[in-house]
Amino acid sequence: MANIRFEALQRACEHEPIAVECPSVHASSYFASDVFTRAKMKEYIASGVLEQLFDDVDNGRTIQREIADSVAIGMRKWATEHGATHYTHWFQPLTGGTAEKHDAFFTMTPSPKAQGESHGGMTVMEEFTGDALYQQEPDASSFPNGGIRNTFEARGYSAWDPSSPVFLRGDTLCIPTVFVAYTGEALDYKTPLIRSTAALCKAAREVCQYFDKGVRHVHANLGWEQEYFLVDEALYNARPDLMLTGRTLLGHDSAKSQQLEDHYFGAIPARVLAFMQDLEHEALKAGIPVRTRHNEVAPNQFEMAPVFEEVNLSNDHNLLVMSIMERVAQRHHFRVLLHEKPFAGVNGSGKHCNWSIQTNTGVNLLAPGKNPYQNLQFVTFLVNVLMAVQRHNGLLKASIVSATNEHRLGANEAPPAIISVFLGKQITEVLDKLEHAAADKGIIINAKKEMKLGVANIPEILLDNTDRNRTSPFAFTGNRFEFRAVGSSANCGAAMLALNAAVAEQLTLFKAEVDSRIEKGEPKERALFDVIKKYIVACKPIRFDGNGYSEEWKAEAAKRGLDCETSVPVVIDRYLAPESIEMFRTTSVLSEAELHSRCEVKWETYAKKLQIESRVMGDLVVNHVLPAAKRYQTMLLQNVLAVKQVFPADETASLNEMDYSIIRRIENHSGAILAGVEAMTEARHKANRMPDERSKAVAYHDTVLPLMADIRTHADALELIVDDEVWTLPKYRELLFIH
Ligand code: ADP
Ligand code: MG
Repeated sequence: MANIRFEALQRACEHEPIAVECPSVHASSYFASDVFTRAKMKEYIASGVLEQLFDDVDNGRTIQREIADSVAIGMRKWATEHGATHYTHWFQPLTGGTAEKHDAFFTMTPSPKAQGESHGGMTVMEEFTGDALYQQEPDASSFPNGGIRNTFEARGYSAWDPSSPVFLRGDTLCIPTVFVAYTGEALDYKTPLIRSTAALCKAAREVCQYFDKGVRHVHANLGWEQEYFLVDEALYNARPDLMLTGRTLLGHDSAKSQQLEDHYFGAIPARVLAFMQDLEHEALKAGIPVRTRHNEVAPNQFEMAPVFEEVNLSNDHNLLVMSIMERVAQRHHFRVLLHEKPFAGVNGSGKHCNWSIQTNTGVNLLAPGKNPYQNLQFVTFLVNVLMAVQRHNGLLKASIVSATNEHRLGANEAPPAIISVFLGKQITEVLDKLEHAAADKGIIINAKKEMKLGVANIPEILLDNTDRNRTSPFAFTGNRFEFRAVGSSANCGAAMLALNAAVAEQLTLFKAEVDSRIEKGEPKERALFDVIKKYIVACKPIRFDGNGYSEEWKAEAAKRGLDCETSVPVVIDRYLAPESIEMFRTTSVLSEAELHSRCEVKWETYAKKLQIESRVMGDLVVNHVLPAAKRYQTMLLQNVLAVKQVFPADETASLNEMDYSIIRRIENHSGAILAGVEAMTEARHKANRMPDERSKAVAYHDTVLPLMADIRTHADALELIVDDEVWTLPKYRELLFIH
């Protein structure tokens, strides 16, 4: 009988590197060729219109409809000149990923005044109006909304985000949009992300006034590092679990996996390199400034990273790159796995989010400056970020948890399930010195600009960013924070909007406190310094430079009052903690109703994902693993009988000893698997009957997940016993080492 695994292996071995034609060795010559950049807009749109548009975009004002009309005409001209026949509003529903519905520029209108050929009284023409650019109504009812539309309004619409440029993908003009209910509630990630950048801009700009009155605008930057696995397409197709859930639900460890640490930064295999080159060309053409590529820790695991950009644009680029990756991988007979934990026992994939805040004057507020004054500003922002992360550590964890990232968190090779901040020796020393600087001698002010900070000696901050700690979920890396707990498949927006909002709230509180001291007569610098000192003490619980994976840290973190919850459905509750609701309300990032709806969607998605996994698990063991085990067991039983026929009776027992032992082990594991599947199915049905989404998710987490783990143990044990020839599922060594 044919074994699909061997057929897949044969096909996989036949896959060769596919040579890629590079447009030019100079990426700068084709960078953003598929994007309607500001420079190109100048060729297609009247200058008066553009000035207004850019001014509105740069100052966060709503675009007027008349402007949209003129812009749409230019956009269509550029797009059709480049082969576009369709356009789509491209948005980010709460399901994750992106959504789009394509409409053709081609249309028919009954209007006799329209220009074009008439067909049975209808005029045929190509059209793209300001209205079509501005707003659309996708069938919102098919996207998750967490009950928002029951509470508010039945319809939702997508609306143009002019701050992120439109781009071409194939024959389609893609327009980045927000997705909201008719009553204004956000149904996506982009809307609250944009709101959070506005809140951060406002709060940070005000704090900047203490240091530089010229600061008019502040924005957050994001540089993501996308980790992923590549698996040969033929092998992937022979693994129903990879196809349907994105991860392997079964599979024994490969004898060799990552122990030798020989993959990380190793030479990139030829077939993978061809994929990466193809991916980079596509990404660069789409205006995504990708720059870094390398092997990651696990076999067949890789990473790509761009140059950082403004957070909303950078996040759009990450979402776009994830879909480009999937498309390009198929051209190379690979499948890309963006799941956080496709393989048990080897490293999972994250998406480190490098985050910083920057002024319109070009100053990175999280980088030490050149003079004492700039350094006081740096310390101000640094300490406020620490306070925000401390105050909202549970919420920040909620912003990164999911059914898929759950397998990565808390395991001993990924960020722990407790949020803490790593600062490194130098910054810790600076904060310690500032904390103990004598109030009277601590700060001496010479003239307006010169300021000495006594023993703190801030001007000498020269950061050595080699001081790294891989076990920290949130690390300061010299001029930015790196939020490492974010999952590889996530929309970074969820984490970024929580961080922006938390820091915005914190900066507002800081300003209020400093101002009230100034009002009471304290000199400004003194007021700033005193509040910073107070914060340095207050934020100690969140600062941790030790090993985040250790058992001692778990105990210590609990003592410090940090959030130590590990169950994803329970962590999601943190969105609804009073301090979270208050923070999102005062920063106008999310209303309480929006928070409730988001949690509903998160719980629902969690339960659904586990439901699918559990069903696939049942199918895998019943229809793949057990039949293979039975086949092998039958072979052994036949052997036992044959031995009995050939050998004298007193010898058969010892000759058959090994067979008996394996037959019994197969029997035991098979029995345990069947019992496990029955218990798991029962648990699933019980969970499905739970009255609300939260308790359903909790039931899946508490009852279904552990049963899946039990079943896996027995199935993986069978994999080790059963004849390799009859095993039908591609094994870890094949999935991880063939490329
Ligand atoms: P690592 O050593 O962490 O791999 P990289 O140099 O690869 O560092 O950078 C990782 C990401 O951090 C890149 O996207 C990079 O552009 C981004 N990055 C660098 N500086 C900043 C900054 N000031 N703010 C935000 N992101 C930044
Ligand atoms: Mg990094």
